[in-house]
Amino acid sequence: MLCRSLALVAFAACALPLVGVAQGPPAIRLLEPARVYDGTAMHEGWGVVVRGRTIEAAGPVQALATPAGVERVVLAGLTLMPGLVEGHSHLLLHPYDETVWNDQVLREPLAYRVARATVSARDTLLAGITTVRDMGTEGAGYADVGLKQAIEDGVIPGPRMLVAGPAMVATGTYGPKGFAPEIMVPQGAEEADGIEGVTRVARRQIGRGADFVKIYADYRWGPNGEARPTFSVDEIAAIVAVATSSGRYVAAHASTAEGMRRAVLGGVATIDHGDGGTPDVWQLMVDKRVALCPTLAAGDATAQYGGWKKGQDPEPARLQRKRAAFQAAMKAGVTLCFGGDVGVFPHGDNLRELEMMVAAGVTPAEAVRIATSGNATTFQVGDRLGSVKPGLFADLIAVDGNPTKDIAALRRVRFIMKDGRTYTQP
Ligand SMILES: [Zn+2]
Repeated sequence: MLCRSLALVAFAACALPLVGVAQGPPAIRLLEPARVYDGTAMHEGWGVVVRGRTIEAAGPVQALATPAGVERVVLAGLTLMPGLVEGHSHLLLHPYDETVWNDQVLREPLAYRVARATVSARDTLLAGITTVRDMGTEGAGYADVGLKQAIEDGVIPGPRMLVAGPAMVATGTYGPKGFAPEIMVPQGAEEADGIEGVTRVARRQIGRGADFVKIYADYRWGPNGEARPTFSVDEIAAIVAVATSSGRYVAAHASTAEGMRRAVLGGVATIDHGDGGTPDVWQLMVDKRVALCPTLAAGDATAQYGGWKKGQDPEPARLQRKRAAFQAAMKAGVTLCFGGDVGVFPHGDNLRELEMMVAAGVTPAEAVRIATSGNATTFQVGDRLGSVKPGLFADLIAVDGNPTKDIAALRRVRFIMKDGRTYTQP
């Protein structure tokens, strides 16, 4: 197509016209890269056959049956791999150094937030992220359900979305805070309490389109604004029972050891943040197969918004502790997920998290596995996404270089296909 130079600026500039080009793709295409990463292993000299929106075959190019009428797509020198699956995004939020969270929740019109989200969705897809787990709209109701529908209908370009809707918090624990107690301020998530209350809200959120239930197992509601546990184990277990009954799972925000412990005992599938994890908690997570999304990049971003000059000033103790906790979880054998809390920092810069995981000791090969088949399995969509295998959705990217050896190769995305539709092409 038109875009040969895909430096970041040109990338964004050339992307939009191409989106409009995506009219009725040919029925069958043979993608011929230099090598294929299938979600777990690298294969030199492989090709991939795509029929419509589905991967039909993958294997050595010479051995692939190529039906008449097949369109060859040569991806010379590139690594073809599953589109990345991001585990903690908020497409309805934008960076806090632009507008603080309180003001996004209370002052921005819903239409404004959604308009921004459409741009963020495009930027996310063009970074090679073909699926996001969107971890709550933060006061924007079910806007994620509508955004997901617009993307699925081809109205706007964006990643596949796994959505949570408003998410759930215990009454009085969340924000925005800091107003006169007489004033009722709309909250960034839906309040619920007690077995009956959380059961009703979980069912309602699922009924209105949530793909999973997001809860805040702790939050900053301590006497001095410190994070403290919120829901009881019984409340969390009740939410998990509803989610499981519907074929879904529960994702928990938790940063305290007790909040994490309650979430694991209650039966959640993933814990996000996890700053205060202890050896006991990591072991519990290993035993119960609960995955950790560390969100290293969010802490890094907020520290910089607070004045920390990265690379010049000494690293704040909070960030050192957070990395140490992550490394302890990794050592203990906790399943790791790639999810940075995108929205706190710019959409499209999602890879920051994966790069920080590698800097903290995850090998590039393991990081790439986590960001593809690993996340897909953790989010219970591995039968459709995250691998290059016959029968899975044709969500594929091609990058310049070998990302299992050099994670920076993921920044050099040259080809993006989602649902069999091509968005950029060398
Ligand atoms: Zn978040």
